[in-house]
Parts: sequence; C-alpha cells; structure tokens
Amino acid sequence: MKKLKECSLKELISTDGIKCECGKIHKMPIKRVEVGENALNSVPEILNELNIKKPFIICDQNTSKAAFPLLMPIFEENKIPYGIFQFEVEHLEPDEHAIGSIIMGFDQSCDGILAVGSGVINDLGKVIASTLEKPLATVATAPSMDGYGSNNASMIQNRLKVSLYYHCPEAIIADTRILQAAPFEMLQAGVGDMLAKYSSICEWRISHLITGEYYCENIADLVRDSLNKILNLADDLLKRDAKAVEEVFIGLLYTGLAMGYAGISRPASGLEHYFSHVWEMMNLERNKPSKLHGIQVAVGTLYTFQIWEELKKYKPDRQKANDFMQSFDDIKWQAMVHRIYGEIAAPNIIKTAQQEGRNDPELHQKRLNLIIDNWDQILEIVNSEMPEYERILSLMNKFSLPLSADDIGFSQKDAHDALIASREVRNKYVTSSLLWDLGLLYDIEFPKNSGFMGLE
Ligand SMILES: [Zn+2]
Ligand SMILES: [Zn+2]
Repeated sequence: MKKLKECSLKELISTDGIKCECGKIHKMPIKRVEVGENALNSVPEILNELNIKKPFIICDQNTSKAAFPLLMPIFEENKIPYGIFQFEVEHLEPDEHAIGSIIMGFDQSCDGILAVGSGVINDLGKVIASTLEKPLATVATAPSMDGYGSNNASMIQNRLKVSLYYHCPEAIIADTRILQAAPFEMLQAGVGDMLAKYSSICEWRISHLITGEYYCENIADLVRDSLNKILNLADDLLKRDAKAVEEVFIGLLYTGLAMGYAGISRPASGLEHYFSHVWEMMNLERNKPSKLHGIQVAVGTLYTFQIWEELKKYKPDRQKANDFMQSFDDIKWQAMVHRIYGEIAAPNIIKTAQQEGRNDPELHQKRLNLIIDNWDQILEIVNSEMPEYERILSLMNKFSLPLSADDIGFSQKDAHDALIASREVRNKYVTSSLLWDLGLLYDIEFPKNSGFMGLE
C-alpha cells in the first residue's frame, strides 16, 4: 500500500481515494489544485470545469488589494461576468453576521462561489457554498493557515468558537506572486500553524491510547513530513523565495487534506489550538480584535511544550488523582465555565459536557488506570513526537514569533484560564484533559514568569 506522504498531489486528490491500512479510504472531493507562478491563468478553465458561468466573489478590502490586480485582467480578457461581496471591516469575524451579510448581498444569478482570501474568507466561502449548494473555488492570498483544503470551517456561533464541517473547495488556486507578497505576519502565522502539529500529532496518539480514539499512522506521517519540509525551508521562506513559499503552501494544504482524510481535526489541532480558541472567545467578550490564528497557536504550542517539559519529570500519583476526583465540585466547575466562557457560551458547554459524562468518576477511573499503566509509553510518544524545548524556542525566535501571552495582548491569568478552560472546548482528549485526570489541572502553576510552570 502506497504511503500518503509518497503520493503526488494529483494522487492525494484522486476521485477514487487512497485505500489505507487504517481501514478507511482517504478521499477528499477536491477536483483541482493549481499552485505556482501564474496559477491564476487557470481560473477560466477551472470555473469552466466546475460549471461556474458567473462566480460570486467573496473578499475583503485587503484580499482584493492583494489579488485583484492580477485576477481582474483575467476576468476582463475572458469576459467572465461576476457578482461580488467585499467586506470593508478592520477585523472580520467568521460569525452569523458575516454569513448573513454575504447572503443578503448574494447575486441570485451567480452559480458558484469564488472565495478570494485566506482563513476567514475561505471558511465563510465553505459555509456559503454548502448552504447554497453551489460549487466553491478559492483563490489563496497567503500561506497563513492549513484550512484551504480541509472540510471544516472555524466559525463563531453564538459567541462560541466552533469547528463546523462543510465541504471543502472543489478547486484551490494559489499563485505564488500573490503568496510571496503577503504581509510577513501571515508567513509567521503559517509557520505557527505548522509548529502546532508537533503537539497535535502527539496528543492524537496519546488519546488513541487512553480513549481508544481512531488514529491513522499514515495520516500522521503525511503531516510530520509536511512539517519537516516546511522547517527545512525556513531560511528560504524568510527571504520569500518563490519555491519556498510554494512548498509551504503545499505543506499547509496537505495538512488540511489530512484533517479531511481523518474526518476530524485531530491531525492538525490540539491543546495549542484550544489556547487560541479560548483567547479568541475572551477577545470577543472584550470587544478586542485577535491576532492571526497561527500566531496565537504558536504561543499555545510553546505553552504545550512547557507543560510537557514538566510532565516528563512527573510520576502519576493515584492517590492525588483520586483525592481530586472525590473533592471535585460540580458547582464550582460550572462557575469556572461561566467565568471564563461568558454567559452566552457557557450553558452549551456545560450541557455538552454533562451529556458525554466528561466529569464522570467511573470514566475518570478507567482513564486513570490506563494513564498509570501506560505512563512510560506516553512519555515515549512525547519524546518521539515533540522535539526538545530549545528546538521549538529557536524556531519561534527565527520567525520572530511571540513567546508568551503578554506578547499577544493577554495576561498571565488569561493564559492560565485558557489552560483550565481548554479541556471544555469540546469532547477531545488533550493534554489539559490528561492533567485533569491526574488531578493536576486546577492547582498547576502556569505560566510562571520565567515561562515555566511547576507541578508539586
Ligand atoms: Zn488511514
Ligand atoms: Zn490551525
């Protein structure tokens, strides 16, 4: 059986899919991907292939500025009619208001969607296209995140950050002339979103061990391979070398495909993403704009590494874990959820947690037994998936990425709150879930000013 990482892009998006040892056929309904210099020239042909006679363009003032000078002459030359909705806001949130705005501005004579942008625009395009049942093509404007080829959209619903599943774009067009010119912080964000894969793959394997969650080594390997390729290009990427930018885009794209193959966001997102999710929700409450997804995720990744640096020195203590469970106070827990998530998001979180028995003592006992019995194996996974702390720190420094919550507008308390609330984002076993099972989550000192926390 051919390994996913050995497949060409064409094979990865083949309509037959790839039969895998995990028992699944890995398949994504993407028909066409064009990456490279002058990739935009293929737009007319791609619209034709998707049967789009009149695309409805979704963009914002920045993405139109980045893409239109190269894209619009192609539309004119080929006499392609189009409708358009351009957001004119400083910070676009992927929420009900944004979706409503597009729907209200939608030109009924359009028969397809062309999203021109990166993260938020692409996610809005996924929701709109699947709701209107129209084909979607995306013109990428920056290698800033891994969601181009994924079928999940990171949205804000009812003030809560959610990952919703829609179809992925049928076509993705990434012209390196546009990607190369993207603002530096978007390149930083792309690297940050990739560094996250060290911890997400690690947690996916740990969860597989503790909760029996589905895991595919082949998919994990595709993500590891993409991450390594990107990091090998770090110096060229900093120089905005065309080939490096192209490779980084492909690496991010593959990671998005990996999520689609797995049917879950696991291969690409874990605790480091939850730090970012909680911070984004805090900003929503505070009416403050958030930094780019990948930049917040990078800080979350560094924090996840710091936690494991400490856990590696720790030995699970059954008594401590049992004492914690016995003294667990549901009222206090609900108050914590209300305090951190706010009154709008909290009730849903509590309801979901109750339905799945997240705090159930019997389930806790089962997991605790598995953690204690497999502690050596857990540490082996961590040591094989996550490089040394100094390595991640030097990579972050290389790309001038922020190193702490303070650097991105949050207090130490916000960082600590994000850690304890991360377990409640959804039903996903992450490092904070494991800390909870060990009875450590609520009395952990994190982060310390030195950047490290302590476990007594
Ligand atoms: Zn598989
Ligand atoms: Zn991400």
